[in-house]
Amino acid sequence: MKNEFILENLACANCAAKMESSIKNLDGINSVNINFLNKRLIIESEDNINIKDVTDKINTIVKDIEPDVELKEVSSTKSIQKIFTLKDLSCANCAAKMECAISKIEYVDNVNINFMNKELKLEINDITKSSEIINKIQNIVVSIEPDVKIIENNIENNKKTNENIDDNDRLKNKFIKLVISGIVFAIALLCEAFDISGLLVSMLFITSFLIAGYDTVLGAIKNIIKGKVFDEKFLVSLATIGAFIIGQHPEAVAVMLFYQVGELFQEYAVGKSRKSIANLMDIRPDYTNIKRGNDIIKVSPEEVSKGDIIVVKPGEKVPLDGVVIQGNSLLDTTALTGESVPREIMEGSEVLSGCINVSGMITVEVTKEFGESTVTKILDLVENASSKKATTENFITKFARYYTPVVVIIATFLAIIPPIFIDGATFVDWIYRALTFLVISCPCALVISVPLSFFGGIGGASKCGVLVKGSNYLEALAESEFVVFDKTGTLTKGVFNVNEIKAEGVSKNELLEIAAYAESHSNHPISVSLKKAYNKEIINSRITSQEEIAGHGVRATIDGKVVLVGNAKLMKKEDIKYFEGELVGTIVHIAVDNKYAGYIVISDEIKEDSKQAIKDLKALNIRKTVMLTGDAKSVGEKVANELGLDMAYTDLLPADKVDKVEMLLEKKSKNGKLVFVGDGINDAPVLARADVGIAMGGVGSDAAIEAADVVIMTDEVSKIATAIKVSKTTLKIVKQNIIFALGVKFTVLALGALGYTDMWQAVFADVGVSIIAVLNAMRAMNIKKYKN
Ligand code: ADP
Ligand code: MG
Repeated sequence: MKNEFILENLACANCAAKMESSIKNLDGINSVNINFLNKRLIIESEDNINIKDVTDKINTIVKDIEPDVELKEVSSTKSIQKIFTLKDLSCANCAAKMECAISKIEYVDNVNINFMNKELKLEINDITKSSEIINKIQNIVVSIEPDVKIIENNIENNKKTNENIDDNDRLKNKFIKLVISGIVFAIALLCEAFDISGLLVSMLFITSFLIAGYDTVLGAIKNIIKGKVFDEKFLVSLATIGAFIIGQHPEAVAVMLFYQVGELFQEYAVGKSRKSIANLMDIRPDYTNIKRGNDIIKVSPEEVSKGDIIVVKPGEKVPLDGVVIQGNSLLDTTALTGESVPREIMEGSEVLSGCINVSGMITVEVTKEFGESTVTKILDLVENASSKKATTENFITKFARYYTPVVVIIATFLAIIPPIFIDGATFVDWIYRALTFLVISCPCALVISVPLSFFGGIGGASKCGVLVKGSNYLEALAESEFVVFDKTGTLTKGVFNVNEIKAEGVSKNELLEIAAYAESHSNHPISVSLKKAYNKEIINSRITSQEEIAGHGVRATIDGKVVLVGNAKLMKKEDIKYFEGELVGTIVHIAVDNKYAGYIVISDEIKEDSKQAIKDLKALNIRKTVMLTGDAKSVGEKVANELGLDMAYTDLLPADKVDKVEMLLEKKSKNGKLVFVGDGINDAPVLARADVGIAMGGVGSDAAIEAADVVIMTDEVSKIATAIKVSKTTLKIVKQNIIFALGVKFTVLALGALGYTDMWQAVFADVGVSIIAVLNAMRAMNIKKYKN
């Protein structure tokens, strides 16, 4: 069982990691994942657990760790409230009758007609059924009172903006608080500078301290009661109150104040990057214009069913996948493919959700419900990507768990041991040093910036039309050593032209017809091309059976005759004598009822960017580029030579391709990764076997999206180099952050222990590191870097 929650107000990355590990310990929970960036908590649990109990327990854990966080379940049964106006409703009795009839419709609840303001309110419990239900309602209303017009009141999705306002308000309040605290602090410092001291000045320091930090201290006290001592709030409170006690008033306030400023900034920066990532993926449509009778009304995309007719105006997003039934326009596919040249569409063209309609109004018949549409698939994929964590991320989480306790333990020793054993060492001096330790005991900089970098990298890649299904794959790509390609449809266009038809015993046209019929149900590039060359309608009743023989061809029964269409291997396998000469191109042999009927020579073209793509990969230090193909040696080697590939293996069956990949896996170095690039047709096993499987031309192809770890939305081979570039940049940023953050922390720890750093410097260093690390992490989503 899988459940999803939203953790509203989640602001501390380290807390998220703690929640994750506590929830994992609950009974019946198999896996837990918190995505700090989109505030989602996903749990997978055993089927027999009581989800309500578990939810309560999770809520307790969450509140314990961060009291401000609200746990909200993302509802699985989607119900929706609808409001309609019943125009020209004039008979109260009819209204009562309508109410009664409507409430009997399945999936409809809480029906209420207000006769005075002519409003019909109801709840639909299955959102996917809503257009069906609305049709039924319309029928009921009209049958009871024919003059009444039913108009749906537009729903506006303002949930998103509300959330932003909440966040902004919170930050603003915090900011004001800190400014006031800062002013009081400045006055206190001035007093001290003018040698005014005494109770009043102490009071000023304490006031400033409390304004900035009372909630932190309060939170710390609550945590102590619960027995939690390695909590960030507790440590800062301890450090500052400790400083007060040993008489370092300005220090105490400064640490609290800057700690808060740092927190505020961090929250702001994370919020901002959350927003830019959201914008990066702002392809989710807010509404759909659906056609009901002669009216066009706005509904949310979830409510539209297959077969509904929708209208997309210029400037609007295409909300669901479908086929244009009326109108011409240009489609901006940038958001999906990173391709900036708009695509022309007309009647009959397929349109994908997430694209923007640029010029004309189009009417579209919906072919996929919202949940199945491209836009949802892509968003799900990108949003879930950070649940597959990179090893670096796991390392950081583990590191964070030990870092704080270790620093605190060292601090304790530092406070106690030297004053006892070293002559002249005072407790005040060493306690001060120990408190300095506590100031830098939070691993926040790392815990936030590392996942943020990966998330940014995945977001940046998707903006370029490369979908990466997990941080782990993004990490692996940086270590690509072998890049192995499938030929047909990957390096070549997969669109074959017929060069020559040699028929034996039948006419050329008949031969092409037989081939096209036999291939009619296959979606192999060869099949698609033969059907296109035939270019006449296929009468399905003539075909009684059809079977694909991977790596060989197809076998079909047409007009009662057994037809074989495929390569030389297929002919050999079936013991059919065939033409064995060498020709330029791929030869497709045809046999009817075990008798050779001739061959068709077809040829494919190399994609425009393949050659450059191989060069780019070499420039990225890829050790070997390899091609695997089921095609004949003559064709395969020609392509390999033209593209400058290092190796080419030809005449392979799908199973041979797996063997070759396994052989290559053994040849690569220990940390190097093998990347396989295919088109998802006949190569799913290889995609799965490689360290990273990349599928090309993913737009609209479910098979490719399922099978691969990385999906390239366009047909461009050059995007593989882009993906590797994104990966390398992201990892570089991650490494920079780790080295920088740890470097500064350890330096400050060392200097603090030796008494060279005061608390001011420590808190500056700590806050500064976090801010710089977050800013650096945000660079990962800057896509300008990835385009040549
Ligand atoms: P590749 O993608 O490397 O070409 P495939 O396994 O898809 O590898 O196909 C290998 C060979 O098998 C093709 O070159 C072709 O000769 C033959 N073949 C596969 N499927 C078909 C088909 N549907 N019709 C005709 N020939 C086919
Ligand atoms: Mg193939």
